[in-house]
Amino acid sequence: MNQSILKICLLICVFCLPAMAADNKLRVVATTPDFGAIAREIGSNMVEVTVLAKPVEDVHFVSPKPSYITKLARADVLIEGGAELEIGWLPPLLDGARNPKLTYGQPCHVACSEGLALLEVPSVADRAQGDIHGKGNPHFMTDPLNAVHTAKLICDAFIQADGKNADAYRNQLNSFTNRLNEKMVLWQKQLEPFKGRRIVAYHNSWPYFAARFGLKMDIFLEPKPGIPPTPAHLSKVISTVKVEKIGVIVVEPYQNRKTAKVVADKTGAVIADFTQYPGGVACSGDGYIELLDYLVNTLAEALKKN
Ligand SMILES: [Zn+2]
Repeated sequence: MNQSILKICLLICVFCLPAMAADNKLRVVATTPDFGAIAREIGSNMVEVTVLAKPVEDVHFVSPKPSYITKLARADVLIEGGAELEIGWLPPLLDGARNPKLTYGQPCHVACSEGLALLEVPSVADRAQGDIHGKGNPHFMTDPLNAVHTAKLICDAFIQADGKNADAYRNQLNSFTNRLNEKMVLWQKQLEPFKGRRIVAYHNSWPYFAARFGLKMDIFLEPKPGIPPTPAHLSKVISTVKVEKIGVIVVEPYQNRKTAKVVADKTGAVIADFTQYPGGVACSGDGYIELLDYLVNTLAEALKKN
């Protein structure tokens, strides 16, 4: 073999090997970065995970791109929240992708809210007035125990799609669950001194987190989920914050910090930067557990101050 042919062969090998390896992996699409982070925990190097929504994007109003259709068309597994979390943008993308593996109800189409008792399920959906939580509150991943539920559903789907690695997926699930349960004890201890404290949130994203840690996060800058704050509503919030001496307002990256600052300035409350998604704020890692570490630390510090 002459040298130039050898060089070409080597180049082909260099370019082909990673592609072949990638081809052996399960192709997973997650709608949001929290589901993506847990998919990576459970799937480790057996999966290739693509996340559609950016960590600083509002999950209710994600801008769909044509490239998302391509990703969905070639996916083996789809992980979404369900409970209408992605109703404004995911269904048309799935229609466009025409991927029979991801049809609603198929085992590789995971709706992580399935099997959970959602909070705030309305007796009658109130969408006419703009409420985007028509089937109950879809931000269930802010309770770490719901993340364990999600991890189990994801593990089941991976085993369905890739049975030869079933034991490895189960081991990853056990390791994630054990680490999270150990952390839960610490998180509970950190927030224990603040039990019963009331906190303002911009959007109603935190009732599961609040319920898990004995807090009240039931006063919002938005008059209804998805409806921007109005002066009349904000003045009511300001007076409640003053009367009850509420000390903390949590704001997520895509929400209007200026509005929160107006309320903070008029009441003396402090703003805590919260996020539902790994990558939404700078923290010690890009996993779900690191995210919860960040949230618990940030809130405990803010409540201590105020
Ligand atoms: Zn919402």
